[in-house]
Amino acid sequence: MDFNLSTISFAAEKNFTPVDPGKVYDVLIIGGGPAGMTAAVYCMRKGVDTAIIIKNIGGQVAETSSVENYLGYKYINGVELVDKFKEQVFQFSIGYEEGQGVTAVTDGDIKSVTLDDGRVLRSRALIIASGKSWKKLGIPGEQRLTGRGVAYCTICDAPLFAGKKVVVVGGGNSGVEAAIDLASVASEVVIVQLMEELTADKILIDKLNSFNNVSMIFSSRVTEIIGEDLVKEVTVENVDTGKSSTVVTDGIFIEIGLDPNSSFASGVVEMNSASEILVDSGCATNRDGIFAAGDVTSVPFKQIIIAGGEGAKAALSACEYILKRN
Ligand SMILES: Cc1cc2nc3c(=O)[nH]c(=O)nc-3n(C[C@H](O)[C@H](O)[C@H](O)COP(=O)(O)OP(=O)(O)OC[C@H]3O[C@@H](n4cnc5c(N)ncnc54)[C@H](O)[C@@H]3O)c2cc1C
Repeated sequence: MDFNLSTISFAAEKNFTPVDPGKVYDVLIIGGGPAGMTAAVYCMRKGVDTAIIIKNIGGQVAETSSVENYLGYKYINGVELVDKFKEQVFQFSIGYEEGQGVTAVTDGDIKSVTLDDGRVLRSRALIIASGKSWKKLGIPGEQRLTGRGVAYCTICDAPLFAGKKVVVVGGGNSGVEAAIDLASVASEVVIVQLMEELTADKILIDKLNSFNNVSMIFSSRVTEIIGEDLVKEVTVENVDTGKSSTVVTDGIFIEIGLDPNSSFASGVVEMNSASEILVDSGCATNRDGIFAAGDVTSVPFKQIIIAGGEGAKAALSACEYILKRN
């Protein structure tokens, strides 16, 4: 079995210029999910000199199998929706960097953004739209066996487990959605849930119940993932009795929610206790010229249409800020 992460191929044509560390951009956008890409369209249409830095194009949308609540599409596959976003962004000659993460930002009249490879980009305004990433369990075996049976993204990796047995950690919406995706390809799915029952939406639980190859272990947590080169088994502890048992499995999907990708801005902008960036109704942070949008912020309800709307607001605020400065 090949456990390398599958790559997603996007069809949209690219019409961008490589980022230039020698210049000062009007606006730098961090993130290429719905928030960042919408901000890019708004900034380019306003004619401000903009560059966008993207670790993984599409963000969470690229990891979503079906979207049925984004206006204009009764149903669209996540990868197709990202292609539509890209088509719209790449009609402009925007400064573009893909595959690089931002490791640090600094405040000031001119803001600076450091990339993974050490290059530093500069701008007058900054839009942070770096979204969220899968939460880790932080248990022995997780990091070492990631990509070797430990997985987070079902749309990327479920096909690797065709005819195999998998454990899904988490019984909320993320976990149950993952279990549904996996149940149609895997031979057996075991959900390990910390609570006494599933906490997902009823519509998802009803769908899950239509599969006969799914079982559940409640009031329990996975404490260790075991295997030399590939996952072989996991240790499960009952939180009420403290008793541990072993579940033999070919893989484990960890679906316990998401954490904001905000660490590179810590100490620069104000955040809440969940490390979400605090913004006002115009997406301004507590720092002049630094704006934030989408799932990385404290704005409630993490959805594509909301992230897009917030991205538009952040872009308009950033453009207004640039105009006023000029
Ligand atoms: C499995 C799943 C299913 C979902 N289904 C739906 C649905 O059906 N409908 C719906 O409306 N919403 C759905 N959502 C939620 C929706 O996808 C998010 O609310 C939305 O994608 C948030 O957009 P965003 O741009 O804020 O962040 P993200 O989509 O998380 O994008 C963040 C971007 O920032 C980049 N990034 C992160 N860190 C850095 C860094 N340090 N440097 C540079 N770039 C960085 C990422 O690579 C990515 O490009 C789903 C989410 C998941 C996980």
